[in-house]
Amino acid sequence: MINSISSLAAISDGHGRFVIENTEVRDPVGSEVRVRMAAAGVCHTDHQSLAWEGPLVLGHEGAGWIESIGPQVSGFNIGQPVLLNWAIPCGHCSPCQHTQGHLCDRTQGLSKESPSVDSPHTVWNKQDIRRSFNLGTFSEYTLVRAEALTPLPSPLSMTEACILGCAVMTGVGSVINSAHVQAGDSVVVLGCGGVGLSVVQGARIAGAKTIIALDKRAESLERASHMGATHTWQIADDDHNFENTVKHVRTLTNERGVDHAFEATGRHHLAFAPLKFIRHGGNALQLSGAHGEVSASMLDFWWDKRYLTPLYGGCHPSRDFPKLLRWIEEGQLDVASMVTRHYSLPQLQDALNDMLAGNNIKGVIVFDKDAP
Ligand SMILES: [Zn+2]
Ligand SMILES: [Zn+2]
Repeated sequence: MINSISSLAAISDGHGRFVIENTEVRDPVGSEVRVRMAAAGVCHTDHQSLAWEGPLVLGHEGAGWIESIGPQVSGFNIGQPVLLNWAIPCGHCSPCQHTQGHLCDRTQGLSKESPSVDSPHTVWNKQDIRRSFNLGTFSEYTLVRAEALTPLPSPLSMTEACILGCAVMTGVGSVINSAHVQAGDSVVVLGCGGVGLSVVQGARIAGAKTIIALDKRAESLERASHMGATHTWQIADDDHNFENTVKHVRTLTNERGVDHAFEATGRHHLAFAPLKFIRHGGNALQLSGAHGEVSASMLDFWWDKRYLTPLYGGCHPSRDFPKLLRWIEEGQLDVASMVTRHYSLPQLQDALNDMLAGNNIKGVIVFDKDAP
């Protein structure tokens, strides 16, 4: 008989609301692992997911300790600290075989073994419920496939490591894996929240010579300077079409425009804005996951520009997370300064409100007061 463990979790109702109540998370079978969560990052996608079909255990960034393992799991030990990764590679499909684990056919629902086939194993109100991105990190315990886990070095703080699995990977990965920023390149970052500041750091690590941070908030620009921006520009409220901002970027780049511009505002109508800042043949990248209809002037595409919509910074976990962890250890990647406030799980609404008000770079839910 398979037993389960009681776990306090945030469960959305699918209509914009959520409750914090007990669930039952069953013992792992096959290649599953049950993780005791230490900390979970709060992301704009969590707010959006309140409107997804419910009930749903919320949360898709997190780190914790392995609590129990299924009989087919190898290479992991009980008590081991691990990072959870929401784009879970199957390891076998064509994208996974070509270091594009973030586009795994299983994650994208293309293979027969789609995520929805995952056996239901979280019970709330006597019904089996799903978990956000098959993780559901806003829960004291979660049950995941072993492929979702990356081992973490013990000295690393869990409350800092937990943000690697979304904002940091998206920002740094888009610089390194998608734009392929090279030493000496010039970069514009539009929007300096958690993803934008990760772009700034990625560009600094890649050796970009000019890193121009653009935001409406002076506080965000100050943070960008600390993270490695060489220039900052506060966008005026009335600079609707970025005319003055574009002029300023041109004066900084001999009137050419930059090599790469990244949009990380979370505002869908700005999806094409990065095209305005790049030189002929440059890269414009939209990191907000914009959807819906957005119009643009074709003049913004002149000439030979590349427009990219990278998913999750092109994350291939076995290649990228060890790299990020090494950069943290070497002091090149600063995640500590990006976590600006801790919350308990019952304070999730405060965490979401602070995020929407732009008060945090990253807010983090901490499950265990004693978590490092
Ligand atoms: Zn996220
Ligand atoms: Zn795959």
